[in-house]
Amino acid sequence: MSNDPRDICPRPELPHAHHGEPLVPPLELSAVYRMRDPDEADVVLSGAEPGYVYARDGHPNAEALAEKCRLLHSAERGAVCASGMGALAAAVLALAKSGDEVVLSDQLYGKSVQLLKSELARLGISAKLVDTSQLSDVAHALQSQPRLLVIETISNPMLRVAEIPELATLAHAQGTKLLVDNTFASPVLCQPLKWGADLVLESLTKMMNGHSDVILGFLGGRVELWDRIPGVISTWGLAASPFDCWLALRGLGTLAVRMERAASNAQSVAVHLSLHPDVVEVHYPGLNAHPDHAIACRLLKGGFGAMVTFQLRGGRPAATQFIRAVADSIPFAPSLGDLSTTLSHPESTSHRGLSPEERSHLGITGGTIRLSVGIESAEGIIAALNAGLRAIAG
Ligand SMILES: *Cc1c(COP(=O)(O)O)cnc(C)c1O
Repeated sequence: MSNDPRDICPRPELPHAHHGEPLVPPLELSAVYRMRDPDEADVVLSGAEPGYVYARDGHPNAEALAEKCRLLHSAERGAVCASGMGALAAAVLALAKSGDEVVLSDQLYGKSVQLLKSELARLGISAKLVDTSQLSDVAHALQSQPRLLVIETISNPMLRVAEIPELATLAHAQGTKLLVDNTFASPVLCQPLKWGADLVLESLTKMMNGHSDVILGFLGGRVELWDRIPGVISTWGLAASPFDCWLALRGLGTLAVRMERAASNAQSVAVHLSLHPDVVEVHYPGLNAHPDHAIACRLLKGGFGAMVTFQLRGGRPAATQFIRAVADSIPFAPSLGDLSTTLSHPESTSHRGLSPEERSHLGITGGTIRLSVGIESAEGIIAALNAGLRAIAG
C-alpha cells in the first residue's frame, strides 16, 4: 500500500474479525465484486458455484430479503425488484410473449392495469378485464387460454376478497397460470401459493416494509416458472438497491405484530364507522355485511387487514371537509401500510384516471375515503375520526 492519497487502488484489506459476527446483516453497497482470477469468474458466472459479480444480478441484501419473503410465502423461488410494479413487469416479461393474452381482475391496482393493458399492448400482448367475483364470467374469459390470470387477494378500494382456490382451479383447467397480488393482505393474513396460486406478488413498499421509506417489490413462485425470471430482472434493469433491501428486512421483523395490531384496530374502526349516521356505507371484509365476509373468514388468518373504506353521506364536499379536519392526526397520503393511520381519497388520486361511469361501477363516489389503519391505539384513531365527522356535521 502506498501512502500517496491519489492511490485509490488497491484498497486496504479490512481487519479480519476472529471472534464475533454482526447480529444484524451488514449493508453491502458494493455495485461489483472482485474476482481472484478467470477461473473464479468461470465458476461463478457459469452458475457452478454461488457468488456475486455485479449487483444488478444479485447482492447479499437482496438475497437476504428475498429469502425472508420466500419463506413467509413458502415459495419455491423468490426475488426482489426495485418496486411492486417492477415485480409485476418481471413476471409478465418472463412468462408472456407477443401474441399471448393476459386476463386481469377489473378491480386491479390502477398502475397494474396500465402496465398490463396499455404497455403490454405495445409489445403485442393483449389484456382482457373481468369481474373476478363472478366465477362464471372468469370461466368464460379463460376459454381463450390466456398465459396469466392476474388478481388481488384484497382489492382496492372496495376490499373485495378473491376466491383464490376456485380461481386457481378455473385457470389451471385452461393451462393458465394464476398470479396473485397479495399487497393488501401480506403473508401474515394470506399465503396465496397455499391456495393454488402459481405466483405471488407483494409491493414491499406497503405493509411489508411498513415504514413508508422504501419502494420495493417481491415476486415468489413455483420453480418451473422461474427459468427466465432472474434474467429478466437483470436485463430489464428491475433490480433493487442494497439499502432499500436492508431497510425492508428490518421492517419485516415487526410485520406480524404490526399486522395483528392494525387489523384489530381496523375491525374496531369499521364497527364504529358503520354505526355513524353520516357514514352511508363501510367496506371491511371483517364485517358480516361485506359481500366476501365468508370467503375472508376462510382465506384470511389473524384478522381482515388494515384497510377500511367508507362513504360519507355528503359526497365530495363532505370528504374535503373531513380530510381537512383530520389532517393533523390522519394525513392524506395516497399510499398504505404505514405505522400510523393515513387516508386516501380514491376519486382524486388512485382512481382519477377512470371515467365517472367506471368509478361508479366500482362503487367509488366523491365521498369515498380509504383508511390505512395504523398501530396507534384504537381509541386515538376513533377520536380523530369522530373529530372529522363532527366537522362535517357542524
Ligand atoms: C402499491 C401497489 C402496487 C405497486 O407497488 P409499488 O411498490 O408502488 O411499485 C401494486 N399492487 C398494489 C395492490 C399496490 O397497492
